[in-house]
Amino acid sequence: MRRLVVVGGALAGHRAAVQARRLDPELDITVLAAEDELPYQRPPLSKGYLLGTVSAQRVRLRGGGEGYRLLPHTPALGLDLGKSLVFTADQVHPFDLLVVATGAEPRQLEGFPPDQSVRYLRTLTDATRLKEALNSIGHLTVIGGGFIGAEVAISARSQGVQVTIVEQSPHLFSRVVGRGVSRIVEDNLRKLGVQLLLNSTTHLELAGKQPIVSDGTQTWTTDLVVVGVGVNPCTAWLNGTLPLAEDQGIHVDAMGLVTGFEQIGAAGDVASWDHPLYGRSIRFEHFEVATNQALHTAQALVANRRVAYDELPFGWSDQGDLLLQVIGVPDPTLIEEEEEVEDGKIFLYRRDDHLEGAVLVNAPEELTKLRDKIMASLRNR
Ligand code: NAP
Repeated sequence: MRRLVVVGGALAGHRAAVQARRLDPELDITVLAAEDELPYQRPPLSKGYLLGTVSAQRVRLRGGGEGYRLLPHTPALGLDLGKSLVFTADQVHPFDLLVVATGAEPRQLEGFPPDQSVRYLRTLTDATRLKEALNSIGHLTVIGGGFIGAEVAISARSQGVQVTIVEQSPHLFSRVVGRGVSRIVEDNLRKLGVQLLLNSTTHLELAGKQPIVSDGTQTWTTDLVVVGVGVNPCTAWLNGTLPLAEDQGIHVDAMGLVTGFEQIGAAGDVASWDHPLYGRSIRFEHFEVATNQALHTAQALVANRRVAYDELPFGWSDQGDLLLQVIGVPDPTLIEEEEEVEDGKIFLYRRDDHLEGAVLVNAPEELTKLRDKIMASLRNR
């Protein structure tokens, strides 16, 4: 009987295991999960789950842990490629096929070690602890003005908490979108009463009861600090055994197989895949990519059905009355063009004559049309 080991028990690992089971009812499937949880979705963790409108039950993925052997609290610690073994703390897991879906972990900001007053948000446990804390504080400082920063700030504001966001760049979301979209995100946050300190870096003192934060020009006391300054793909356990792309994700081909290995694939936040339409490798940290990429990877490995994953990256962010949808790769260094549509706006991102990505602001009905337009433009390059 063939043995598949999936390292990572989150969305991509779960989806890969479920797809593998569908394709081969006889396959022996083991999923090694670092957390002590059934697989769950992350998007609600910074929004509905923090607000209490989405329960822990609804956050869990349907069918989590069914059809495969899930080993919770069993992080992989090493890989022996020669002998096809994955090591955990007290076991060795032989495999014929391997999927790496270890995701990413929050980047730790120097001078902000996680403790009672300083939180990082990635897991359901992190979100549960943060939800409890938000009930009893008056002021929150958020370091980092990206997805976590904006969504946590809005969730906290709607519970009456005063919020300051500190962002090192001159604009929010500056890594993912252009200036026009940043301006809309910033205006919306200010309208909701969030204080924004842009172009600003901080340090923290934990001398007394309350944290004291300073950005060099001003100093304030706060009740809690949430740090959301990006993530790093979880690859340390591999100890250099698999090839990494420039963005430090595991380098996989368009089908999801690790470059140079027929029996190993990767999917989700940890994978940087050769996108056939962009002609370069892309690591995109969003729900839909993790879901669909895992299906392709499992199918290439288990059924030798090699279909290139050439969908456009897609992600979204709910920020109060603002719905942002990102399709393709709206690189902020590209030319940004703004268009008014019925109830919202769209922003197009061009490289020379070609469309590479778009951001839709309260314009979900434009999504399919834009998706087709970007695909056609990339195909005609
Ligand atoms: P992020 O979206 O990359 O944003 C991090 C922000 O922090 C960037 O604007 C960055 O600025 C800034 N920053 C970095 N170092 C800083 C410092 N020392 N002081 C102040 N600001 C600093 O990352 P994230 O918000 O931490 O989110 C983590 C992951 O969760 C991402 O993968 C994200 O996609 C995912 N997530 C997604 C959603 C969603 O899709 N709706 C929601 C929540 C989380 P620079 O650009 O200048 O480095």
